[in-house]
Amino acid sequence: MKKITIAIDGYSSCGKSTMAKQLAKSIGYIYVDSGAMYRAVTLLALRHRLFTHEGQLDTDALKRMLSKTDISFRLNTETGAPETYLNGENVEKEIRTMEVSSHVSVVAALPFVREYLVKRQQRMGQEKGIIMDGRDIGTTVFPDAELKVFVTASPEIRARRRYDELKAKGQEVSMEEILLNVKERDYIDSHREVSPLRQADDAVVLDNSLLSREEQLVWLQNLYAERAGE
Ligand code: C5P
Repeated sequence: MKKITIAIDGYSSCGKSTMAKQLAKSIGYIYVDSGAMYRAVTLLALRHRLFTHEGQLDTDALKRMLSKTDISFRLNTETGAPETYLNGENVEKEIRTMEVSSHVSVVAALPFVREYLVKRQQRMGQEKGIIMDGRDIGTTVFPDAELKVFVTASPEIRARRRYDELKAKGQEVSMEEILLNVKERDYIDSHREVSPLRQADDAVVLDNSLLSREEQLVWLQNLYAERAGE
């Protein structure tokens, strides 16, 4: 098998990271959650109170801060999953809160934030053997990826999955709030000027509304074998 690059894009909360992680584990590839990087920058902005009460962001201050910021991933040896670090601090849990979710799409729409993170993501994929998930991986980060998947599912099903995930982590949020956030992020992500969320022309579409995790993995493994086979 040759080493390839796998790009998984799609709407929020449609199980991209679950399937990307499962595949990475089964074929020994590196998995990178690009959304975690946008979330880490958002956390940085929130911690430094760069948002006003009306939700306006001090972009100049964020720009200055970003040049001194380090975002990285380290493997949790107990769970075997990569975790996100912001300037050396493990922020994996904090970047998944509703507060970060409701500010992240505004931060991710800023061209200087995207430029900064896309460069880092491309560096991580230099050697191939990588699976990255996000919104612009197959279109902007790795336009030459050998396998591109575009995942989608209905907003209601995605909101239900997010609700179950947050509840399992002990976070109290209402279904209405989550559904609204999912729809809002879809809208901002698809309508921003720089690298909007869109399906790459050569992507394979997967609507996983009615698929189990196991069925999804088998589907993806078959595609991988087809593309990486020599
Ligand atoms: O994947 P996740 O839902 O955690 O991503 C959080 C947010 O980060 C998305 O709603 C989107 O605004 C942004 N994002 C992005 N480009 C990526 C990955 C995530 O704009 N490649």
